[in-house]
Amino acid sequence: MNDDPDIAIIGAGIAGAALAWHLAPHARVLLLEREAQPGQHSTGRSAAMFMETYGPPQARALTRASRAHYQQPPAGFTDVPLLAPRGVLYVGWQGQEAALEALLAELTATGAPVGRIDAAEALRRVPVLRAEGLLGAVTEPDAMDIDVHALHQGYLRGLKRAGGALCCSAELQSAHRNGDRWTLTLKDGSTLRCPALVNAAGAWADVVAARCGARPVGLQPKRRSAFTFAAPEGMDARAWPTVAAIDETWYFKPDAGQLLGSPANADPVDPHDVVPEELDIALGIHGIEQGTRLTIRRPQRTWAGLRSFAADGELVIGWDAQAPGLFWLAGQGGYGIQSADGAGQLAASLLRGVALPEQLQAQGVDPNAMSPARFASGPG
Ligand SMILES: Cc1cc2nc3c(=O)[nH]c(=O)nc-3n(C[C@H](O)[C@H](O)[C@H](O)COP(=O)(O)OP(=O)(O)OC[C@H]3O[C@@H](n4cnc5c(N)ncnc54)[C@H](O)[C@@H]3O)c2cc1C
Repeated sequence: MNDDPDIAIIGAGIAGAALAWHLAPHARVLLLEREAQPGQHSTGRSAAMFMETYGPPQARALTRASRAHYQQPPAGFTDVPLLAPRGVLYVGWQGQEAALEALLAELTATGAPVGRIDAAEALRRVPVLRAEGLLGAVTEPDAMDIDVHALHQGYLRGLKRAGGALCCSAELQSAHRNGDRWTLTLKDGSTLRCPALVNAAGAWADVVAARCGARPVGLQPKRRSAFTFAAPEGMDARAWPTVAAIDETWYFKPDAGQLLGSPANADPVDPHDVVPEELDIALGIHGIEQGTRLTIRRPQRTWAGLRSFAADGELVIGWDAQAPGLFWLAGQGGYGIQSADGAGQLAASLLRGVALPEQLQAQGVDPNAMSPARFASGPG
């Protein structure tokens, strides 16, 4: 793109990429990414689940609003299915009866299909579960795996096809508003001007706000660690559902011929290129070994990523209350992949000043509940 864009988006994770794709047919869009490759941070480190029961009400509404795009993306978006059946079992043992019933009631209230199976059925589906004291599980049969890479690349390819641009190794250093335009200065000293600036910087969104002279909204990045390990010999684990402990102390799921495990930790940290603590991995292995007959000799790969939350857990989407021309798309927490298309649709319609798409309204998406204005008198 030779001319200055109408809209510059900071951060080419799934949030910035989805928004850029939705905007590109209507505006000149420039997506700026600090790293040499997009998807290096939270987007490339997720567990790739799509669960309509997961997250606070607006995150769930955006997730429901994303389903149509993921199930039937437009022609040419991708060559592979974006969603694949997976299902989830939340398993409990003796002493956790009340927790199972409480979760069943909580998930039923979300309106998504959920069920309750006994121990025998849970063991039939996942034969390695520890049988002693097993009560059974709460199930979410419609939970899916998302092909995150294909989704992310589909957005980025579509952006370019529609005339937009992605610029990597392009870190926003500062931005100043003069009249009706921002002047952006990148780390290499280059500058560009544009009327609208979108902050989709993931865990760094409060840092980017400060670089634009705006107030932070009080995002808290939280470290979550994960690892892969070999599936048990002689068993075909590929069709197992995701298995999560009812007390949220571990989960595991099939992942590309292996199993992916996590201690389901949520450790508050400052934004950085996060790595797993050894203790996180040890706790995850211990939890999974306690809840199953699996022995995890050595994890094959370990990593950690940041899930960044606003105080109420909902996403932060909308124009900044004080800084003209600054738009927020942040606070995706642990649901940023599954909600990305709905969030992109919402942000694009607010940026363009057009009515919310009907399907967002039908799912109960409420822009006020996600507006950054709810933090206007918050942390300064
Ligand atoms: C272990 C784990 C499991 C998860 N599981 C799931 C799951 O099953 N389902 C789900 O939906 N979600 C899941 N999540 C959450 C999901 O990964 C995030 O919500 C989502 O990826 C956030 O996307 P993002 O685009 O906001 O952030 P990011 O992917 O982090 O992108 C932000 C980008 O902004 C860039 N940036 C920052 N500052 C600047 C700057 N100054 N200039 C230019 N660029 C900048 C960064 O380099 C980064 O690439 C999980 C997360 C983790 C860590």
